[in-house]
Amino acid sequence: MKYQFAVQKTATPKPKPDPDTLKFGKTFTDHMFIMDYETGKGWHDGRIVPYGPLMLDPAAAVLHYGQEMFEGLKAYKTPDGRVLLFRPYMNAARTNRTNERMCIPAIDEELFVEAIRAVVNVDRDWIPDKPGTSLYIRPFIFADEAFLGVHAANHYKFVIILSPVGPYYEKGFSATSIYVEEEYVRAAPGGTGYAKVGGNYAGSLKAQTKANAMGCEQVLWLDAIERSYVEEIGTSNAFFVIGDEIITAPLTGTILPGVTRDSVIALLEKWGMQVSQRRLRIEDVIKAAGDGTLREIFATGTAAVISPVGKLVYKNSDITIREGKVGPLATRLYETLYGIQTGKIADDMGWTVAV
Ligand SMILES: *Cc1c(COP(=O)(O)O)cnc(C)c1O
Repeated sequence: MKYQFAVQKTATPKPKPDPDTLKFGKTFTDHMFIMDYETGKGWHDGRIVPYGPLMLDPAAAVLHYGQEMFEGLKAYKTPDGRVLLFRPYMNAARTNRTNERMCIPAIDEELFVEAIRAVVNVDRDWIPDKPGTSLYIRPFIFADEAFLGVHAANHYKFVIILSPVGPYYEKGFSATSIYVEEEYVRAAPGGTGYAKVGGNYAGSLKAQTKANAMGCEQVLWLDAIERSYVEEIGTSNAFFVIGDEIITAPLTGTILPGVTRDSVIALLEKWGMQVSQRRLRIEDVIKAAGDGTLREIFATGTAAVISPVGKLVYKNSDITIREGKVGPLATRLYETLYGIQTGKIADDMGWTVAV
């Protein structure tokens, strides 16, 4: 190993949560990883310490101007007790694309992955192994230099926290309802849509609240200029199956380049199906629903892996897809991806990394 980190173990380990009642992102493990950056010194002092609150100067730049980023990936326990990360080098590469956009200093990709492996290894006993459970890994970076003024900071913290999570689908793999948002937008060309930064999500809460009030779980975002082209579903990428064509939005700067999106495209191509990365108008989705050619819609992301859509709410009317039932492509993709992630299906794509 190229990197070594000091480890300070907690003196007061917490009891492990009941795997049957785990929620998403509510419970945290005993330890976390922290590393500092200072201009002139670079990233330094990577260490594993007991999980706990961080001390911040009230003038810390992140609290005022939002200079920060985050990532999300999972560790899974295999039936024979190994621990697997799913494509962590993709998260490392995405981190540096986000950092570049946010004027946050780059992190060596090997250091990023080694830090994850080290902290996951220390809290290995926290990884649940019940079907559907996993350890959610949240790396994040924020500017903690104390100053008021808009410029890139000279001091940052890189932190990794870990959260054991339960099955995403409490009632089993089932379809969701999605509200098509026409007023608010998530990302405009030239903005930060392709970067995983907190501001994108703060700005999305208003539309999410509207969606919930309409009885929907998530928002379908349309493009910022014409409010016509489909972009993403909540914090997931979106796929549409119309006739024989599988369509997802192209990576033109307003779309977050999902690891799951990339994996779905690779699997479909391996299975002999082509994915069109092209712009698609919501009007064409509605038309396809009307003439019976809309076969499936599903969202892709680390949290739920595959999330089938059973209903769209658009301009005050409900459009039902497959009578609200889960489609065959979504099911096959979910079973394959989840199988590879948990080591139950042989990983012939070279995607998993053992801890
Ligand atoms: C994280 C995220 C995704 C999904 O990315 P994965 O790497 O597949 O988890 C999609 N869209 C947005 C807006 C996201 O934040």
